[in-house]
Amino acid sequence: MTKQISRQIKKIEKKEKKGSYGVWRKGFCRKYSELLTRIQNNTYNSLAETNTSKDEKITCRKGCTYCCFHYVTVSLAHGIVIVDYLYKRKALLKQFVDNYEKWYGKGFLISDSIDNMRIQAFSSSIPIDRIITDTRPLSQHYLEMNIQCPFLADNKCFIYDVRPTSCSGHYSVSPPDWCVSDLEQQPVLHNIIPNDEDLIEITQLSDPRLALYELTLPKMINRLLNEGSSPLMTEIEQYNF
Ligand code: SF4
Repeated sequence: MTKQISRQIKKIEKKEKKGSYGVWRKGFCRKYSELLTRIQNNTYNSLAETNTSKDEKITCRKGCTYCCFHYVTVSLAHGIVIVDYLYKRKALLKQFVDNYEKWYGKGFLISDSIDNMRIQAFSSSIPIDRIITDTRPLSQHYLEMNIQCPFLADNKCFIYDVRPTSCSGHYSVSPPDWCVSDLEQQPVLHNIIPNDEDLIEITQLSDPRLALYELTLPKMINRLLNEGSSPLMTEIEQYNF
């Protein structure tokens, strides 16, 4: 049975919508969502163009959930936008709360280890490529644990319009049948990051640290729902981004 929205989440929602922060948050989420649609189209088109020149085709299909068992992070800025999307869709918010409990049992400890490594690396200004390489064994272990993303229901992503850019930039170009976790044949996946112009625009929408500070997706959303954005914003003050 789907859980009810707790009093704490309702209290935080009220607080997030209040005063000058509430006004800023509303405008920020609108602009970020518009930009996100453009970024999603740009990444898709850029991969489609590259593939045409290489004779490859994007083979992703509706209902395929292979990538939704991978380890995914989201920035604080993007997390605020996802939470706003859930505030406007209470049935989806309840679904997340329900799914998070199941995710927590399997995913919290390992994602906490990855987050700690990433935060330490970020605060010492280690380049993103090194961070990805260093955390790869743990991310691979996460995938092997078969942990389903809590935003997945009926084989569909229920925050599809505002899903993280790492999800919207992930495409398979191998036969769809290869996207099965217990198959020895690994699918050929391309991960396209947004172009420099779009990335700059994202960081310019707010304090750039909001776009740089990332946590595991479910953890970030759960914290924003239960604590609000203020403790997370205070948290980034201590890191040397
Ligand atoms: S956010 Fe959506 S697309 Fe991304 S892993 Fe979760 S269910 Fe899949």
